[in-house]
Amino acid sequence: FSSPVGQNLTFMRFAIFGDIHANLHALQAVLADAQEQSCTHHACMGDIVGYNAYPKECLDIIRELDCPVVKGNHDELASLEGPIEGLNPLAELSLKWTRAQLPEEDREWLRNLRMQRQVRDFTIVHATLDTPQNWAYIMTQLDAAASFSYQHTNLCFVGHTHTPKAYVRDEGVRTEPLDVLSILKKNKYLINVGSVGQSRDGDSRSAYCIFDTDTNEVTLRRVPYDISAAQKGIIEAGLPSKLATRLVTGR
Ligand code: ZN
Repeated sequence: FSSPVGQNLTFMRFAIFGDIHANLHALQAVLADAQEQSCTHHACMGDIVGYNAYPKECLDIIRELDCPVVKGNHDELASLEGPIEGLNPLAELSLKWTRAQLPEEDREWLRNLRMQRQVRDFTIVHATLDTPQNWAYIMTQLDAAASFSYQHTNLCFVGHTHTPKAYVRDEGVRTEPLDVLSILKKNKYLINVGSVGQSRDGDSRSAYCIFDTDTNEVTLRRVPYDISAAQKGIIEAGLPSKLATRLVTGR
């Protein structure tokens, strides 16, 4: 007898997403797309809050998903007291506002997030694996090489730059197009999943990746969402209008 129940037990289709940045409309669009794409699991790369107008709503959704989550720099700063250092003025303003929106219980949850996690046979981290707590940006092959030297799994997902990108290490480190990428066991892969809530690669749509453990493929998804509703929230919250206009340009 064949066992229809047992056949697909190990099959998993992960929606891997991050840098939501309190953009509720973008998060809802991404989760709906992931469902349409038959994703069975989620993993969150952090920066749930900051910049946009719905930190509490986004946190509630992520906590409800009960999926692996790593800490982003905005999550950390929103969870702490005291001065906010090392961020641009827009980020600083929005973080001060964010702190006031979140109950202590949510801030404690953010504070307790781990910097990196292994999920099944891949790793997730917000910024880099070499010095996760420094929040450095992987912008070049050299930056990627430093992170690769601390990567003990075949595949690692990052966020933080808000720009989808794939680095591959075989003899050297190179970039590869990320539309649909086959993950080969002999290489290492470092994949930036882009941003749900504040794109910075000139495409205003949300970005996230699907990792299918059956086909061993990573697919980049771009999802349109209701930008004007997100902008309205920003203006009504009294946040800087620049945070609303940048959503349209994707910068
Ligand atoms: Zn971010």
